[in-house]
Amino acid sequence: MGFTPTHLFQKENVIIVEAVIVFLFGLLFGSFANVCIYRLPRNESIVFPASHCPACNNLIPWYDNIPVLSFMLLRGKCRSCKQSISWRYPVVELITGILFSALYLKYYFTFYFWLYALVSLALVVITFVDLQEQIIPDELSYGLMVAGTVFSFFNNDLYLQIIFYFPPVLNRLVASYVGLLVGGGILYFIAWISRGGMGGGDIKLAAGLGTFLGWENTLMMLGISFLFGGVVGVVLLLSGKKKRKDPIPFGPFIAAATIVVILFNDQLSSLVMKYFIF
Ligand SMILES: [Zn+2]
Repeated sequence: MGFTPTHLFQKENVIIVEAVIVFLFGLLFGSFANVCIYRLPRNESIVFPASHCPACNNLIPWYDNIPVLSFMLLRGKCRSCKQSISWRYPVVELITGILFSALYLKYYFTFYFWLYALVSLALVVITFVDLQEQIIPDELSYGLMVAGTVFSFFNNDLYLQIIFYFPPVLNRLVASYVGLLVGGGILYFIAWISRGGMGGGDIKLAAGLGTFLGWENTLMMLGISFLFGGVVGVVLLLSGKKKRKDPIPFGPFIAAATIVVILFNDQLSSLVMKYFIF
């Protein structure tokens, strides 16, 4: 078999090319996430003004603002004042790029790709704001609740057997709200019995994500987030980096667990079927 140009358009090649393009777009959205991470906790507009160096306030020209590449070319220093640029910038861009291409490889360009790309972008912002400021901006949690409710009309994964006689659109809407109540309710209960071990920001975030995930995946997400939080908590205690009373932000664990559920829900539910349901 000789090489013909049609080989280039085989399905696998198209998927690879599209995954790379999605990755590059992900880097750009990661750049936008960086703007949000810096400006949302300061209550600054995320649109204006254009990017400037936080140290010397100089405007950053477009060629110094290319995701990841500019950071490497500038060796992590501002061109005008030579102050170090935080490693957070390229890391956030790379994480967003990788998440977007992973979503593409699972969902291709279906409705779920766009839905979960939006959710992932919000989760990247939430993770880094929570790590730095120990808060989860309400705009983002409420935004997730509103978006999750609106998109529930198109989300076939949301379905409640118990109200099978409801018209599908209404069924999905109710399923979305049940997800909200399960996510918010469980963390609210934990906050109540642990007397402040869980913040209001975490409760609102889990409620917002519940509108996308529905109650089953929300339970799975919370279980995984406690697992992650427990493991990291023990490691931080044993390594002496944190003391027993030191607060550890929980938002990043919720975010990581949600990503795991979004990317591996099929494998996770067959695992649950196999070991927990007899
Ligand atoms: Zn500077």
